[in-house]
Amino acid sequence: MGALTPSGIDEVYLDTNATTPVLPEAVAAVEEVMRALYGNPSSTHITGLKARHLMESTRQLARQVLGASNGHLIFTSGATEGIQTAVVSALSSVKSQPELLNRPGKLLLYGATEHKAVPNTLKHWNQLLGIDAEVMAIPVNHQGLLDLDFIRRHAKDALMICTMAVNNETGARQDLSAVEEAIRSQNPQCLWMVDCVQALGKMPLALSDTSIDYAPFSGHKLYAMKGIGLLYVRQKAPFSPFIAGGGQEQGLRSGTENLPGIASLKPILEALLDPAHSTFRSVDTLNGFRAQLADALLTAFPGLVFNNDFSVSVPTTLNFSVKGFASKELLDLFDAANIRVSSGSACSSGATRSFVLDAMGLPAWQSEAAIRLSFGPAMTQAQLDHACERIAKASDALRYSCRHPGHLKPTEQLEGLVQLKSGADCCYLLVSQGQAIVIDPVSPLVERLVETISCQGLQVAAILDTHGHADHLSAAPVLAERLGLASSDVDALGWPQQASTGPLGLPAIAVGDNWLSRMATPGHTSDAVALLLSKGEDIQAAFVGDTVLHGGLGRTDFESSDAKALYRSLKALGQQLPAKALLLPAHDYHNLLFTSLEAERRSNPLLAQVLAPVSMLDEAAFADQKARLDQALDTPMEGCEIRCGVTNLNLKLSAEQELTLDDLALLDTPLLVDVRESHEHHLQHLGNDASAPLSRLAQYLLEHPEDKPLVCYCRSGSRSQVAAAALTRLGRRAYHLKGGVALSQ
Ligand code: PLP
Repeated sequence: MGALTPSGIDEVYLDTNATTPVLPEAVAAVEEVMRALYGNPSSTHITGLKARHLMESTRQLARQVLGASNGHLIFTSGATEGIQTAVVSALSSVKSQPELLNRPGKLLLYGATEHKAVPNTLKHWNQLLGIDAEVMAIPVNHQGLLDLDFIRRHAKDALMICTMAVNNETGARQDLSAVEEAIRSQNPQCLWMVDCVQALGKMPLALSDTSIDYAPFSGHKLYAMKGIGLLYVRQKAPFSPFIAGGGQEQGLRSGTENLPGIASLKPILEALLDPAHSTFRSVDTLNGFRAQLADALLTAFPGLVFNNDFSVSVPTTLNFSVKGFASKELLDLFDAANIRVSSGSACSSGATRSFVLDAMGLPAWQSEAAIRLSFGPAMTQAQLDHACERIAKASDALRYSCRHPGHLKPTEQLEGLVQLKSGADCCYLLVSQGQAIVIDPVSPLVERLVETISCQGLQVAAILDTHGHADHLSAAPVLAERLGLASSDVDALGWPQQASTGPLGLPAIAVGDNWLSRMATPGHTSDAVALLLSKGEDIQAAFVGDTVLHGGLGRTDFESSDAKALYRSLKALGQQLPAKALLLPAHDYHNLLFTSLEAERRSNPLLAQVLAPVSMLDEAAFADQKARLDQALDTPMEGCEIRCGVTNLNLKLSAEQELTLDDLALLDTPLLVDVRESHEHHLQHLGNDASAPLSRLAQYLLEHPEDKPLVCYCRSGSRSQVAAAALTRLGRRAYHLKGGVALSQ
């Protein structure tokens, strides 16, 4: 156990805008310095002089590459330090000039799509140095190009203007001459920083021919080591050392120089100056590479749109979105295919959006679904061909989950329960022998449902709701229309007007060899029902709407609510359902997937009292307590305008439940469960495992009721943690692989 299958697949690294691998020549140069050239460049003995020579010859090469025949060129730790130095230099100079400092309406301008290092640095030092200027974003157009009229209008009030040469998410290349004209025509004195991090090696630079005051660079974006960068400072631009000390770098940046880092830059700079392009490809070649990649992507994903305009971008960045796929889903898919790309944005709290694409005014779905693919100028034709093949393979794997955009034929027949989620809303698809029932459909999932139903060729027997939802309209009518189903002869919750009586003595619909029986559970709303899933009389699961939530009960302060009725409904459920039957609520605020009455009794004292064999709590006392709980409902949660019930959970896995691959060997025949999507599993998985995507975990439990320890795993350990927590809550012995397959490669 522990080897990834198929094994030995090499990584396709297409995320060079984040960082690049280190070029072998640079690795060799670093090794040489570590081994033999360890001198301090400030020492006057021969060992020191050799070190100084390496440093100064590298600086000279950098001057040639950057077209910086004059001005200062300082070695830094990276671009973020370069940006600090530039901003501190500019603002310290402002601080010493009362006529600037006291000017009303003074501005610090930055491009709306700058790397966060820029606006955050401006805001930080503006406050710390007491400059008190307004920090203002310069808008960009739909191509990501700066609004030059805006610059012209505001430049005269600007103390400093920060723009970038090339954007890190889109590759958009600013026309620096036009930006310069817009600034200088209004304000020849204003200090101008251009972040050149993503431009190096991708477009020619001639810094000394411009009036750019500061230009930071970073080594790790172009095949050098991390921790080394450069800052260009124009000859007469104000300067304050950001790091004071022993006076290295002519007093401009103290601290013993990072000679291994500097050494790693040298072969890169030499390669950039090589007219034969033997290491770095020419711009024409890179343009051809982009065209080939774009073709491969469009063929693989027919619904793909590019978010960056190739006519104004450097060739090495492609930013795209695929309709129907969240960026996280694509990232998971690419990672399983061993292709490294990045989502177009930093991911925080689950919701991803790209502020860069937002600033460009692109539609919300494109910003939310954005993927950035970037390659470096050292890319070879063979690597590119390999990347294109792998992209085709990744797309092909989507067939395993019926999500291939152009190939909607199932690879295997779907059977059982599928749980789909949109934010905290849950919707279920119950499939048996080619027949399907949809329960509680919500609008954002309609396309996905249609896709699955048509891919699988399912015949939809009913589209049901568990109650009239207060927080959203049921998507049942829209779904019925999309599927071409008549909705006239069903009631408000989707039931056929004449439902037959099933094995539980309740109105029921047969789906294959399963029954779905309707049990009235008024309380949360007057029309609420629970849908009991049984084989004959054997109840396995219940779709309980909002009547029972994970760690809570549906609120009863709506107009059609009745807390006393809820009390009676809960008691009836307690009598009807086996304690371990899966409960499948319509909301899942805590990513717990499913629950059971047994689990709820453990975590919900109010429910436990209602279900106690000899209950001390009567209807009135329950209603009283429930009213107090409803009042305490906190502010609405993201994605759910009305929070539909009280939930109160504190879930953490114990340290023993977090396993490494080595720990697995110590467990007594655990079942290894891959909780990633089927297409990810198909592309790569650990040996001897089962595939049970989070959306199918409930079905897995129905099929495997025995209490064997389960070890869940996924890409990074986050989905597997969710699965293990949900299983633990049910009372199953569950573990997860900490760090996921990412750490087992
Ligand atoms: N500016 C841009 C455009 C970048 O892409 C980055 C890195 O992502 C930085 C600045 C920060 O560079 P460093 O990692 O060298 O601090």
